[in-house]
Amino acid sequence: MDIIREAPRETPVVADVDVCVVGGSCTGVFAAVAAARLGAKVALIEANGFFGGVATASLVSVWHSTKDIKGEQQVIGGLTTEVVDRLAKRDAVRFAGTASQYFVLNTEELKIELDLLVAEAKVRPFLHTLFVTPAAENGRLAAAIIEDKTGRRAIRAKQFVDATGDADLVARLGLPVYKRDDVQPPTTCVILRGLRAIGNQHKGFNVHSAIFDPKYPQALKKGFAWGSAVPGGNDEYMLAGTRMFGANCADADELTQAELEGRRQVRAICDILRENFMGGKGNPLLTLPAKIGIRETRHARCLHTLTQDELLSGQRFPDAIGYGTYPVDIHSARGAGVTFRRLEKAPYYQIPYSSLVPKGATNLLVAGRCLDADEGAFGAVRVMVNCNQTGQAAGVAAWLALDSARPVAEIDAAKLREALAKQGAIVL
Ligand SMILES: Cc1cc2nc3c(=O)[nH]c(=O)nc-3n(C[C@H](O)[C@H](O)[C@H](O)COP(=O)(O)OP(=O)(O)OC[C@H]3O[C@@H](n4cnc5c(N)ncnc54)[C@H](O)[C@@H]3O)c2cc1C
Repeated sequence: MDIIREAPRETPVVADVDVCVVGGSCTGVFAAVAAARLGAKVALIEANGFFGGVATASLVSVWHSTKDIKGEQQVIGGLTTEVVDRLAKRDAVRFAGTASQYFVLNTEELKIELDLLVAEAKVRPFLHTLFVTPAAENGRLAAAIIEDKTGRRAIRAKQFVDATGDADLVARLGLPVYKRDDVQPPTTCVILRGLRAIGNQHKGFNVHSAIFDPKYPQALKKGFAWGSAVPGGNDEYMLAGTRMFGANCADADELTQAELEGRRQVRAICDILRENFMGGKGNPLLTLPAKIGIRETRHARCLHTLTQDELLSGQRFPDAIGYGTYPVDIHSARGAGVTFRRLEKAPYYQIPYSSLVPKGATNLLVAGRCLDADEGAFGAVRVMVNCNQTGQAAGVAAWLALDSARPVAEIDAAKLREALAKQGAIVL
């Protein structure tokens, strides 16, 4: 391969903190805020100009149930319910469902609420900032090198949380990562307007099936579509219907192609609507996402790989840091359809801390979708109410590792659970 040899350089340290969180979705924000509320000095790095990850950048607005499968016992609390409550005060969340309640968020308001959480906790934010590589000193991860408008800088920290979704920090540090051959496909979501009006004029109209109907030349390859009305919106609907089969979004070139293909498919959806349901007039396209919605890329190989059997049997873990009920939900990597497997034997499942501790790490944890889980377990824990809990737990664990001067693999799980409970997280 042709190469350019770069000159060795000295990189200025812009911040010296206790905990550096890389990736600022709700997962990363919750990690940062949880550590900061315990007294840690925290830096938070985010590539976008706002926080929230897939929820905000990719328009995915649904948080699933925080209760057990019967909808009786609260199994998720902490920063997740705190944010829902804060949004509710601004009429920026719609409560849906009966027994197992779920939430549709106004994700523009979520952006602002996350800004406030970060500011209140005195976390130092780095927006429009890309983590590019780790730096080690004395055999230990010592700094995250960033690139931003100012240039190339370093954030020195004692503990790190990789909440990039893609395990960027773990991978670039050379710790073990893996990627399944069949990753769940990415989707470019879109906010469309006027679908209710179309439905009023065209009996039986269903956008979820229309976009795959082979009688239209622009029809998408059969996949799966779902969507949700925008809370407080006026006939505005978030549709998740595109799929980029086989795209590996941890590969820069494939990510570029997936973004382009996602928007091409959105245009095809809009053309189907315009030409067949709108008399060739008007335009249904209201909002495109800032970024393609990525379901899965790399995972860190951690001390424990959470399995589907453990999940569906409600396996108890002494180091449980999160709970959930969302079913196994695997979007086919190659064609139509979604595989669902529901909890039957247990009222909720558990997520162990050991699935957040990368093998070989001393001062680094993962949180969010890059945790270690087999295909089935990942299909369930990947949703945001679960990722959120891993974020809060990683933030608390990072602080505990610092406070007890122990490697992340050796912190006291009982103390971790106790500290999480003190922060309002539910510990069962
Ligand atoms: C189309 C779609 C529909 C979905 N539907 C639902 C649903 O209805 N409900 C639900 O709960 N879940 C849903 N999911 C799953 C869920 O949204 C994701 O699994 C979850 O949001 C992942 O969170 P995360 O924090 O791990 O990653 P992300 O949300 O991807 O966040 C990673 C963050 O890190 C930042 N980042 C990455 N690399 C770097 C870097 N090198 N430097 C700086 N910053 C970086 C990114 O900009 C991003 O903000 C859906 C996913 C998709 C794609």
